[in-house]
Amino acid sequence: MQPSSLSGLPAGVGEALEAEGVAELYPPQAAAVEAGVLDGESLVAAVPTASGKTLIAELAMLSAIERGGTALYIVPLRALASEKKAEFERWEDHGVTVGVSTGNYDSDGEWLATRDVIVATSEKVDSLVRNGAPWIDDLTCVVSDEVHLVDDAGRGPTLEVTLAKLRRVNPGLQTVALSATVGNADVIADWLDAELVESDWRPIDLRMGVHYGNAINFDDGSQTEVRVEGADDQTAALVGDALDTEEDGQGGSSLVFVNSRRNAESAARRLTDVTGSRLTADERDALRDLAADLRDVSDTDTSEDLATAVERGAAFHHAGLAAEHRSLVEDAFRDRLIKVVAATPTLAAGVNTPARRVIVRDWRRYDGDFGGMKPLDVLEVHQMCGRAGRPGLDPYGEAVLLASDADTMDELFDRYVWADAEPVRSKLAAEPALRTHALATIASGFAATREGLLEFLDNTLYATQTDDAGRLAAVTDTVIDYLVVNGFIERDREGGTERLAATGIGHTVSRLYLDPMSAATMIDGLRDACREETTEPSAGEFTLAADADDGDASDEPAFGTYTRVDGANVEGDASEDDGAPRPSITPLGLYHLLSRTPDMYELYLKSGDRERYEETYYEREAELLGDAPSEYEDVRFEDWLASLKTARLLEDWASEVDEDRLTERYGVGPGDIRGKVDTAEWLLRAAETIARDVDGVDGDAVLAVREARKRVEYGVREELLDLTGVRNVGRKRARRLFEAGIETRADLREADKAVVLGALRGRERTAERVLENAGREDPSMDGVRADRSASAAATAGSANGDDGEGQASLGDFQ
Ligand code: ADP
Repeated sequence: MQPSSLSGLPAGVGEALEAEGVAELYPPQAAAVEAGVLDGESLVAAVPTASGKTLIAELAMLSAIERGGTALYIVPLRALASEKKAEFERWEDHGVTVGVSTGNYDSDGEWLATRDVIVATSEKVDSLVRNGAPWIDDLTCVVSDEVHLVDDAGRGPTLEVTLAKLRRVNPGLQTVALSATVGNADVIADWLDAELVESDWRPIDLRMGVHYGNAINFDDGSQTEVRVEGADDQTAALVGDALDTEEDGQGGSSLVFVNSRRNAESAARRLTDVTGSRLTADERDALRDLAADLRDVSDTDTSEDLATAVERGAAFHHAGLAAEHRSLVEDAFRDRLIKVVAATPTLAAGVNTPARRVIVRDWRRYDGDFGGMKPLDVLEVHQMCGRAGRPGLDPYGEAVLLASDADTMDELFDRYVWADAEPVRSKLAAEPALRTHALATIASGFAATREGLLEFLDNTLYATQTDDAGRLAAVTDTVIDYLVVNGFIERDREGGTERLAATGIGHTVSRLYLDPMSAATMIDGLRDACREETTEPSAGEFTLAADADDGDASDEPAFGTYTRVDGANVEGDASEDDGAPRPSITPLGLYHLLSRTPDMYELYLKSGDRERYEETYYEREAELLGDAPSEYEDVRFEDWLASLKTARLLEDWASEVDEDRLTERYGVGPGDIRGKVDTAEWLLRAAETIARDVDGVDGDAVLAVREARKRVEYGVREELLDLTGVRNVGRKRARRLFEAGIETRADLREADKAVVLGALRGRERTAERVLENAGREDPSMDGVRADRSASAAATAGSANGDDGEGQASLGDFQ
């Protein structure tokens, strides 16, 4: 089936596809066309990785647009949104407009309404539905990429509920779900009332095998000798062998999947011995340039380690890397410049980075709930293996697992090579998921009674799969109680039926996209901080908590009982203040409060951390908001300390401690710091909105929240907030300017240019841009010579600033 023979697409699309090299549709694509994907039919396409699922989605979307409709493409990861948008933008020549919605709090609703194709994550779509984005009602086609992720306990329920909502508001909506090959694609098709195209066809053959001894044993019975010599390990031998086997005049690159970030980093380091000696002079030059770009991304050990490995042709890839790191590595790997990438499974999930050989080095991963090393799911391993083989470049792809003895080899064949992927199972009936989605469903008017809610939930995969309708009803009842008790919804018992409606704060929480439990935790903490020092808690103020204790959920952290009567006022620095936020609400207290919410992943307590943070806890107990668990409540106390560790990271960041020191001190990557900082900023913004909406939280608390948010946003102490508000002035430049005597935006407009230039290390372009952004009339640096003493003061100042230990204990919140 040739693209130009297809009808229903915008003019010229078929020819354009052929010009791109799509001479014939792949068999699963042809099957999708036969199933009616060009005529608005809903479809589930369950086919292997790299078998052209995106084109199936494009055919659906383009034909929908040709009929006058609009399409939404739901991506599984935020990192993929821009990639997909760029891919679809090639249709702009055919009059199709594309938009992407990624931000946490963007208000791009109206602009998006003008686009033909919108790309967004399921969380973003869910948020847009809650906020009543008008274009949602006009959609005619929705694509869900990697729909098997409905199985994911964390994010699956959002995708599931979002699809159910979209289908509810648009009864005729064409739903195209793309899935890896899973055990029960028919159930997904049933749920979505869709045709099913299921196939194990691949554009390039995949051989799966297990390396043991000195050979790979493949599933087709063949063997390839790969000797493990001397000190080499299996992985190094396999990577070297792929590079030495030339096809198309070039050796083959490898992807090595491992089970932790640390392992990815150490594997890459070791593999430089294999790749380094096989590089040409040109490749070395190009890699040196790439390493310089990587070093420019951030100033951390991780960045340095990555650059050092890349100079010798190897790289690591994991979620702790900054986004720029990741895309530089992915591009260079696709360009065959980087010869091997050691990755955690994030790379298997959607990024198009094929390699000749995939090596699944670790097939077990530590799992706390499991209590040890747990074998990976078949689906996950198959997705990693699916990255093997570049169509047109390799004769076939090879995916290799590693065994150190014959029994393990047999086990790996049974467990992964011969096995089918597991069935997908809905995780919706878990309480945290339902808590969030029940509130959103009521707040956005999809349900107004308990029965209405259950009827809505009947459109989910959960309902399609379960034989136990009672369980969903039982969890739903618990969740409704929770939401009522915490004041997010109200029951109206008048009339025959009991109606449910979101309260003002309930609407706010839903629109802010908060887990209701996060909101409840923050409200409790803020009210506690604002409690009058002398009076006993009044009954009115705390009825929610009192009610909650009657329920069966009293072990939930959000149901604090406010027994603490010391605490907030212990600091007693009454002499200190003059209208500024009260001293008892410190950034650390707020960071700790938001780190306790389910919307913030707290840092892990490593060995030795418990003692360390217990000590911090006793030192700074007075600053922490809400009710501390007793030390004897092991799990809750441990959580409390883990949140304190997270809070200390945020506090250090907001006190200008250097990134590399933070990565060392907290055992995290630069990408993790960014993630925590972004989440903290978002939660504090939400806290500020909520604080204004609820009773019992005063204006000083609102100010304290705002200041803590700004400090975490810019990563600076209070005195630099004005300077960091100027574009192009980050935390480091602000500190240097400050130390040179330029303390405010207004100072920048007046200051001696020589001093500005000196403080900015003589960088004229930067200095000009900064002055321009500060509103200076003549920002030109022509003929200006940097003031050396300013430069020295700036350096001395920031050197002090970089002294982490000293800085962290400066008590800079007074
Ligand atoms: P999937 O989403 O299934 O993992 P992709 O849609 O990313 O796979 O497709 C993998 C690659 O195959 C892409 O580079 C795409 O351009 C190419 N491709 C898709 N369909 C065809 C076709 N019919 N002929 C040639 N190449 C194709």
